[in-house]
Amino acid sequence: MKCLPAAFLLVACCSPVLLLAQQPTADLILVGGRIVTMDPSRPKASAMAVKGDRILAVGSNDEVLAYGDAETRTIELQGNFLMPGFIEGHAHFLGLGQSMMMLNLAGAETWDEIVEQVAEAAKLTPPGEWIVGRGWHQSKWKNLPSPNVGGYPTDAQLSELTPNHPVLLTHASGHMSFANAYAMRLAGVDETTQSPAGGEILHDDSGRPIGVFRETAQGLIGRVRARDEAKRRPTERMEQSMRAIELASQECLRKGVTSFQDAGSSFSTVDLLKRAASQRKLGVRLYVMIRDSNNALETLLPKYKMIGFGGDFLTVRAVKRSIDGALGAHGAWLLAPYDDLPNSAGLNTATIPSVTRTAELAVQNGYQVCVHAIGDRANREVLDIYEKMFREYPSSIPRRWRIEHAQHLHPDDIRRFGEMDVIASMQGVHCTSDAVFVPKRLGMRRSGEGAYAWQSLLKSGAIVTNGTDAPVEDVNPLASFYATVTRQLADGVTFFPEQKMTRMQALRSYTIDCAYAAFEETEKGSLVPGKLADLVVLSNDLTNCSDEAILETKVLYTIVGGKIAFQLEDMEQVDRSDN
Ligand SMILES: [Zn+2]
Repeated sequence: MKCLPAAFLLVACCSPVLLLAQQPTADLILVGGRIVTMDPSRPKASAMAVKGDRILAVGSNDEVLAYGDAETRTIELQGNFLMPGFIEGHAHFLGLGQSMMMLNLAGAETWDEIVEQVAEAAKLTPPGEWIVGRGWHQSKWKNLPSPNVGGYPTDAQLSELTPNHPVLLTHASGHMSFANAYAMRLAGVDETTQSPAGGEILHDDSGRPIGVFRETAQGLIGRVRARDEAKRRPTERMEQSMRAIELASQECLRKGVTSFQDAGSSFSTVDLLKRAASQRKLGVRLYVMIRDSNNALETLLPKYKMIGFGGDFLTVRAVKRSIDGALGAHGAWLLAPYDDLPNSAGLNTATIPSVTRTAELAVQNGYQVCVHAIGDRANREVLDIYEKMFREYPSSIPRRWRIEHAQHLHPDDIRRFGEMDVIASMQGVHCTSDAVFVPKRLGMRRSGEGAYAWQSLLKSGAIVTNGTDAPVEDVNPLASFYATVTRQLADGVTFFPEQKMTRMQALRSYTIDCAYAAFEETEKGSLVPGKLADLVVLSNDLTNCSDEAILETKVLYTIVGGKIAFQLEDMEQVDRSDN
């Protein structure tokens, strides 16, 4: 607690006594920091004051201390770095929480390790119950599984060790799943099962399914699991969902995320989030894109639009579709075939008329459109749909429609983002995670011209946002920020460094530009009096610490709506880099 003598107030503030008496007092003051506001009219400051859930003042220590009284809580920042809270631009909130409740396969260095992990879990799981895991990635394994089909493992070994449990292991990208024999039997999948449109069941030479299900084919197994889940008691399901929300909230707050753009939830998930918001159980502010069938959108969109529900914690005003898959799983829809899979140009996972219909429904109901597109063909098709819609439904202000990922672009399409005010909703960390296989899939020319083309997009005048696609990647914004400003892989190689962002561009992509992409730039994304008091205090100054120091940076405080939502327990541990 820090209280100021009245005399100091009079000296610090030149206003007449009458005005001074009316000056609001702060609930919380943070002083003695290095503050980057992201507000061009006052880019730097050393203190800020908060009243209720809003920012009251930003300025020098003296200016801001004038807002305190005996009741004000004061935090000495001790030279630490304060910035607007990170806005996660594209991730999956419930998926993040749920991923923390299943087997984490991301650290496995071989397929055998995963088989072992699952076999261990089987010992602890009652027979007949599902064993689920997530995060495997064949490109990250030290050696090829044996046997394998095109680099993918076959189910034999896993199925032998798990004869009594259905097993479903989701790929790190979320665009592919692995099932054991038990799960395939439950789903009625055998040699005769046809791959559904927009998906593929992988087979061995004899025509037997090997357990790998790409894109829409995942539904064959996923639906059986969902059916079994639905048999649980409603209270049990609700408890599990609330637990996932709690885990996701804590994980975000620990890592400095104060707002989260959820890239695709069904109407029933929105009901759940609404319930959590009204019970004040959302730790971070959510901006939700609805992902559901066109039939459901048609009837329910008018009833679900909400802005700032539950004390500004839940906004639903966007729709999400996916037109292709992911590059890692050869699902990205390309203009020309894959270099390492010459008989395929990827997968188109939703028809153009169907995506166009979604866009029409969005226009009619005042929703923003967000379409997942990774390959250059997918991006071109989505830009074409947007262009057609903008022509048919002109608007005097930009609609701010988004392309989620926008990873691999034909050079001719890059300028269209700027010209059409289409937001490139990208993930810095995907660039360095994927860089190991991008040149294999696309070849060097395509990789150089349009892979994660941040500078080219910014030059076109486009807004580029940032995020992690969690649980595909760790939700940690510092790792994505590092990838964004270095494009450096673990082995030291830099992936087309001419496209990396400057520190300030990267900060924008994670704050004010992300806010813009959700129509929230007047509420958050910069530290300006009147905006929500969502901020983060870090141990290093992200504008000028060394690249390595970015990864060592600690989150000291995460403050949401003026309340300390996370505080590092052992502040003594913090070793600040002062360069
Ligand atoms: Zn996603």
